[in-house]
Amino acid sequence: MMIELGPFRLDLIDDGFFELKRETFVNIAKANLSSNQKRQGMKRRIRVSFNSLLIRGAEHTVLIDPGSGDKPLESRIRDYKMEWPRKLYLTLEKLGVDKRDVDTVILTHLHWDHAGGATTVGYAGQVEPAFPKAKYFVQKRELDAAREGVLTQDDGYIAEDFEPLLSASVLELIETDDFQVFPWLALHWTGGHSPGHQLAIIGEPDKEQAIYFADLVPTISQLPMDSAMSYDVKYDQLAASKAKFLKETVERNYLSLFVHAPRNRAGYLTKDSEGKYKFRAVEI
Ligand SMILES: [Zn+2]
Repeated sequence: MMIELGPFRLDLIDDGFFELKRETFVNIAKANLSSNQKRQGMKRRIRVSFNSLLIRGAEHTVLIDPGSGDKPLESRIRDYKMEWPRKLYLTLEKLGVDKRDVDTVILTHLHWDHAGGATTVGYAGQVEPAFPKAKYFVQKRELDAAREGVLTQDDGYIAEDFEPLLSASVLELIETDDFQVFPWLALHWTGGHSPGHQLAIIGEPDKEQAIYFADLVPTISQLPMDSAMSYDVKYDQLAASKAKFLKETVERNYLSLFVHAPRNRAGYLTKDSEGKYKFRAVEI
């Protein structure tokens, strides 16, 4: 479960599975599926995992994408056939990490499966930051999109996942495409999946580095350029960002980390002579 990256200890923590409808995964080139394919799609569901990333080192404890948390409503748990309770908070405890130890939380975007764990229900029933000592980071355009989403009843966003962070003044809004949290932790805006989606690159430049793609490449099945999810808001932006960061990943030999992969959660990518990505899994 743990891997060492230079001076950093990385734990890819399984928050539990949930299920998505088959039609969530689309091929951009075949966006107009035949009715037969659509019918098959309706019946099938795909089980996905959720992998949060814990980084310890350089006197910091950082969490990227704290999963679904403990607030989801019964209806959501049922609709998505969510494994319940979610496992992140418990696993942190098992790893000896108190919620107060976490000083930095990165939110790649504000969809409930990634950001729900950012807040929790306190003793008096109020929703509050789940990591009381942490500073949280998100793209400003993602917050704008999430607030808009709540108003238009976009199922992907839940106000209680992020508004309490603003009320508590712990949310840092990033207004540039590229942002350095620490010399060894860089965030890059990708868009595509959601308006303010960003990914993270961990480790010092010119040393061993890892990339947490978040939903730019949720599992290795989404490595092909024409693969996407129906939630993705802009396919062209998604494809452009994917091309850019996959190229960088191969060139710099980043350890790739995949947020929704039940297996093949981490590994190294190379490109063969035909331009196809090859994946070598690493146990984490
Ligand atoms: Zn996701």
